Amino acid sequence: MSDLIVDPSGDEKKRSYSMLIDGDWRPPTSGRRFETVNPFDGAAWAEIPEGTEADVDAAVGAARAAFDSGPWGKATGTERAAAMRRLADLVERNAEALARIETTDNGKLLRETHTQTKALLGWLQYFAGAADKIEGATIPADKPNYFLYTRHEPVGVVAAITPWNSPLLLLIWKLAPALAAGCTVVVKPAEQTSASTLEFGRLFEAAGFPSGVFNVVTGTGPDCGRALIRHPGVDKVAFTGSTATGIAVMKDAADHLAGVSLELGGKSPNIVFDDADLEEATNGVVAGIFAATGQTCIAGSRLLVQQGIHDDLVARLVERAARIKLGDPLEPATEMGPVAFPEQQAKIVDYLDLGRHEGATVATGGGVPGDASLAGGCFVEPTIFTGVDNGMRIAREEIFGPVLAVIPFADEEEAVRIANDSDFGLAAGVWTGDVRRAHRVAHALRAGTVWVNSYRAVSFAAPFGGFRQSGLGRESGLESIREFTEVKTVWIELSGQTRDPFSIG
Ligand code: ADP
Repeated sequence: MSDLIVDPSGDEKKRSYSMLIDGDWRPPTSGRRFETVNPFDGAAWAEIPEGTEADVDAAVGAARAAFDSGPWGKATGTERAAAMRRLADLVERNAEALARIETTDNGKLLRETHTQTKALLGWLQYFAGAADKIEGATIPADKPNYFLYTRHEPVGVVAAITPWNSPLLLLIWKLAPALAAGCTVVVKPAEQTSASTLEFGRLFEAAGFPSGVFNVVTGTGPDCGRALIRHPGVDKVAFTGSTATGIAVMKDAADHLAGVSLELGGKSPNIVFDDADLEEATNGVVAGIFAATGQTCIAGSRLLVQQGIHDDLVARLVERAARIKLGDPLEPATEMGPVAFPEQQAKIVDYLDLGRHEGATVATGGGVPGDASLAGGCFVEPTIFTGVDNGMRIAREEIFGPVLAVIPFADEEEAVRIANDSDFGLAAGVWTGDVRRAHRVAHALRAGTVWVNSYRAVSFAAPFGGFRQSGLGRESGLESIREFTEVKTVWIELSGQTRDPFSIG
């Protein structure tokens, strides 16, 4: 077995992918493929199958059969864990190749995509460790002569729908607990970034997974994605994407009562108090909004800053933002790559116009960079708007780009009120030197994750998810396995006596 199973990008020939269904690489029944484009240079570097309902049906059928009657359905937790550890080893050897593919597809810095593909191991190993510890309970029955216990059984076939900003990381958040629980999976990656998930699929056979446990269908959201959610053979939907699409997905899943977990948008506040270390806070605010070119659900896109330090902090941020090195995401020195595709660039530029129109002031950035060396890519300048009111659309809507809205506040109470005045509740940052205030504010914020004197840390061990319109359910952490299990209660009658058949016992 060769170490490198994944084919790293960089060859001149355009690749043509097929879909992974029941252990086979199958061309789309539509006969059509669409191009996937590198947002740094505009080159169409691969062709992705346009999957339709027929392909989805085949993939769900394969996952169904693998679950209902294949060896995976009968495997013990210890056997599942062994397969997951073999997969982790293969991921480790192929991590850089997978990262290069993601960077080629979505323009994210190689140094970040590589960190992410190496991090996949952590999720696989952590959940492999959990696979043989999914325990039920013995319950003291309130009636004599019953032995009562629970089993946590796999929910069945999982449909995973993933977005374009972190394709494999956001897949593993669903896949690792699903495999640990004993489920089978059909994934539909985002149409802009399907290649890394297809390449990742090549590792499953080598890791010894039975056919049909992991399937990949590709295509557009409204066609291929929707067909997958609506398929009656799907028991559970795990989705990451925008809030509007998440709501549509939940409605479709409701038609056949599939369970859903949704990881959706955010408009997260980064709150800086006047007792914070301003150098650390500056770094954290930059990490929150300019890392990943702002294309992350956890972006700290609202900066709430206490009035007394407002001008000082803004000056530091403007100075740092203006120095951010834009360029080729494969280059180690680059700090911000392009956004992922032209429509995304156009959407962000519209928000820049909207911010000006709403009366906010551009402190730095505010458009597409003029630098000729960046002209072929989907670049947007790191932008800071000051004088923002929390009622403005640039403070309420998710822009998904490198655009920071700065909102001043007077005291702790006002900071918490503004922070919580949002449709979203995914994450928040709190910067303060006062340990009591740190906990007080962390408890008062309506958000699924709160970082204190830090931003943008995630872990396989830490539950992640949103309040309000940021989502439903939690990914990562031991409790995320619950999202992929059903509880079964078993009653064993011990006496052998006949009971009254007309009275509930
Ligand atoms: P964006 O992040 O670009 O706003 P979405 O939230 O719409 O995109 O997309 C996230 C994922 O959801 C992608 O894989 C996309 O193909 C998929 N998707 C989009 N629309 C639907 C739909 N109606 N049903 C199922 N999946 C969808």
